[in-house]
Amino acid sequence: MAKEDNIVLGQGLDVEQLQKLAREGSAEDILEYLQQTGLWDQVDVIREVLRSDPALSGKFERLEQLFIKNRLVREFHVHSSFSDGLFSPAELIEFAAEKGIAQMSVTDHDTIEGIEEARDAAERVGMDFVPGVELSAKWQDKTVHILGYGFDVGRAHKDREFMEQLEKVRQSDYRWAMEICKKSQQEPIIVTTEDGVEHKIFVTEDEIRAFKGDMPSYVQFGVVIARKLASISEELSMPERNAEYIFFRKLEPHLATESCDPGLVERYRPLFEKFKINVPAKGCWRVERFQSAENAVNSILKIGGLPVLSHPGEQELTEQDIKEMARMGIRGVEIYSYKHSPDALKYYAAIARKHGLFITSGTDFHDPWSRGKVGRNRQGEVLVKGVSIEDFRDMGAVVYENSKSLTNENNQGQVPNQSQAGRSVEFAAFPRTLRPRSGEKLKLDPSPILNSSGE
Ligand SMILES: [Zn+2]
Ligand SMILES: [Zn+2]
Repeated sequence: MAKEDNIVLGQGLDVEQLQKLAREGSAEDILEYLQQTGLWDQVDVIREVLRSDPALSGKFERLEQLFIKNRLVREFHVHSSFSDGLFSPAELIEFAAEKGIAQMSVTDHDTIEGIEEARDAAERVGMDFVPGVELSAKWQDKTVHILGYGFDVGRAHKDREFMEQLEKVRQSDYRWAMEICKKSQQEPIIVTTEDGVEHKIFVTEDEIRAFKGDMPSYVQFGVVIARKLASISEELSMPERNAEYIFFRKLEPHLATESCDPGLVERYRPLFEKFKINVPAKGCWRVERFQSAENAVNSILKIGGLPVLSHPGEQELTEQDIKEMARMGIRGVEIYSYKHSPDALKYYAAIARKHGLFITSGTDFHDPWSRGKVGRNRQGEVLVKGVSIEDFRDMGAVVYENSKSLTNENNQGQVPNQSQAGRSVEFAAFPRTLRPRSGEKLKLDPSPILNSSGE
């Protein structure tokens, strides 16, 4: 059984031995073990040991640095200013490169207009890049997000149906913004300054119409609000896209929970208290905003992309949902998302493995203030798990391996390919102290998570 063969990857290293590796091996040994076995999930066990023992904190940091140095950090879910992110695509790539990210995709909501700029920037900084998009879609009574990776951007631009669908989303955003403008005039945001004066903030339709360019209408709403806040008091100045997030989304009751973005809520709580900011909570849901999930999946397949289910934990999707989506054509699930608690992460990883879906890493980064740091999980560890750029390429995705071309120029040598399809492990690859004795029974399951989580 092919599955059984893979289990040999464990090579006798059970959890105790992994803990031993963490304590006794060097950071270089640990990296070598992960690269040789491909058992990147085991990095969790190792990191836990390193983090829990203050004497090992130096090794922990060294390991994180080695991941960065070896260009293993991946981040396949970020937003640029072409949707609701703060940075332009080029700024975003440069920002991420500074943080040590080596493999990346920019996945704007319902637009592919920022991809070329991001791709060119990735080439400049020597970062591997895979084209991406995040489509909003309807699944039963929920809104889900479907990521698409590795499509041919030129082909997507020429696909009339695909582009029309994106245009429909833009138009419905515009209509939605017009509606929310009306609402904001009927029920303005109230800001009370220290002199006791109440300021009413609202947005008019003309203020939205005055915008030119690619910024989505819902972000424009936030931009106007931010400008008006800043004109009341300098203290109320905030990045325009944060205003969009706080004030626009607060008006959507289902998003007005603190769990939506604790970082942002915490950051602005003192302002809300000091200025007694009152945001009307009445809902205004989006009309005709979304296509069906099936349609979104099909349209990604049609332009040659790999459809991936985005952060299923946010929508509390079940195994049944994911199973049906797999039947529909979903190929992967985003697991290493900042939006997932450790429990959700285990739960969805197990489901993905059970249904033969690949796993991706991405934080859903929008700006440096709100949820998540680019390329890092909630514990501040760099993202090294899930599919790599090479895996994307092996699955037939369009990828731009810019770090390889740089390395080739510099070293005129081959760069070892970390993602061999049939990984086989030599005992010699393990640190000497941890090599299994010959004939030892090998029993480590490559996905212990699968066994330990409920369903
Ligand atoms: Zn999303
Ligand atoms: Zn997103």
